[in-house]
Amino acid sequence: MDTIPAKKTLIGLSRAELTAEMAAIGEKPFRAKQLWHWMYNRGETDFAAMSSISKVMQAKLAEHFVVRRPKVEREMISADGTRKWLLKFDDGNEAETVFIPDLDEDRGSVCISTQVGCTLTCKFCHTGTQLLVRNLTAAEIVGQFMAGRDAYGEWPTPDDTGRMLSNVVVMGMGEPLYNFENVATALEILMDGEGIGISRRRITLSTSGVVPMMKLCGERLGVNLAVSLHAVTDEIRDRIMPINKKYPLKELMQACREYPGASNARRITFEYIMLKGVNDSAADAHALLKLVKGLPAKFNLIPFNPWPGSEFETSDMKSVKAFSDILQDAGYAAPIRMPRGRDILAACGQLRSDSLREKATRAKARAAAGIEDEHHGG
Ligand code: SAH
Ligand code: SF4
Repeated sequence: MDTIPAKKTLIGLSRAELTAEMAAIGEKPFRAKQLWHWMYNRGETDFAAMSSISKVMQAKLAEHFVVRRPKVEREMISADGTRKWLLKFDDGNEAETVFIPDLDEDRGSVCISTQVGCTLTCKFCHTGTQLLVRNLTAAEIVGQFMAGRDAYGEWPTPDDTGRMLSNVVVMGMGEPLYNFENVATALEILMDGEGIGISRRRITLSTSGVVPMMKLCGERLGVNLAVSLHAVTDEIRDRIMPINKKYPLKELMQACREYPGASNARRITFEYIMLKGVNDSAADAHALLKLVKGLPAKFNLIPFNPWPGSEFETSDMKSVKAFSDILQDAGYAAPIRMPRGRDILAACGQLRSDSLREKATRAKARAAAGIEDEHHGG
């Protein structure tokens, strides 16, 4: 069977790369600037609708390139307004993007994934149980945000104050600092003022603690940093987050102290999953205060979101509240992140696993009924 060579998508190229692509087909840098506006300010996906570009040029572009989004395979809308999209990429892999509206406000955060699965195997994290892993490309990362804007019809780019999709949190599936180059390119596209225009102050990147990459992240991107801490001793952290064996707490806290741009106005968020009987005592809270002493810190206490087969339980609300009070009495912000979208499988990685499971079940049923497996193109 003949295969038509896949056309290259222009999404996810840096400005320099886009300019180089245009040069390769004999076009001046101006063409890249024009396209940037159409793709990232207007959200246009069809060259034929790019009215400031001549018909001849539109056809030439369409001959070589596409401007595509990942395909929305499933959308789920929670009773609390949280929306979750399962996106399918060209190779058939899937990842999740979630929009979490701020309660009572016309704005909210898009939570984007950076890998299919994750190579780290944090014990409490569902994504860590997924075997297949690959890095998402810059196009796939920026495409998640763009798919969200499509769903809300937020094109052309609205004013900073008039956006439902106002903030970005890099807290979906995967470890962003293990896919830094693609994440950086994608975030630079999101931050570009002539396109999507999300200020770096409205972007937070969460890491499990990839110490050698943290400084570069701050220097190059200047985004807010969140660190998945989850334990106050190496003994416990080693057990629940294997990355701690590589980069133990002392080194992690030092990297936090040196994070470029951190200040009292821009604090580092320490995420802390509350696991019953593991890390949720009053003594743990006091040890946590000691650990972050001298750092511009705030906390995010996350009641563990259970999933089938996980070995932990959620701390009871009384312990979570007591833990939060200890941190707050010491002068820190320590909100308890209320579980959102529980009714739509909100735990990180759960929707993708659910989709894989469904496929396996369907395949088994077909096999049992003697039906041959279907072959989709992707
Ligand atoms: N890999 C990065 C970013 C993605 S994980 C990191 O670990 O920081 C985003 C956040 O979700 C992390 O703080 C992670 O610890 C948390 N998380 C993972 N599984 C969870 C669960 N079952 N319940 C609550 N939070 C969870
Ligand atoms: Fe990976 Fe983050 Fe999940 Fe750990 S918590 S397995 S680093 S996605």
